[in-house]
Amino acid sequence: MTTLLDADIDTKIEELAELASSVINEHTNDHGACAVCGSAFPCDRAVLAEHNLAVCGCLHGGRAGADEPSGPALALSTS
Ligand SMILES: [Zn+2]
Repeated sequence: MTTLLDADIDTKIEELAELASSVINEHTNDHGACAVCGSAFPCDRAVLAEHNLAVCGCLHGGRAGADEPSGPALALSTS
């Protein structure tokens, strides 16, 4: 039976957060359309990445009293 250590989970969360962050940085608003997908902005991947980043932030921020600054400002339009 394999047991994940807290450090392993932290690493996985950070990897997921980095992936989500890079997706958000790539799938940007290009005059109302995603610069990568070409679909209406925000595209599905950008929305999913933002969601994952928020989840990662909650998980990571809630562990071991980690007191890190909040993640990068999201480029998604809130209008
Ligand atoms: Zn996209």
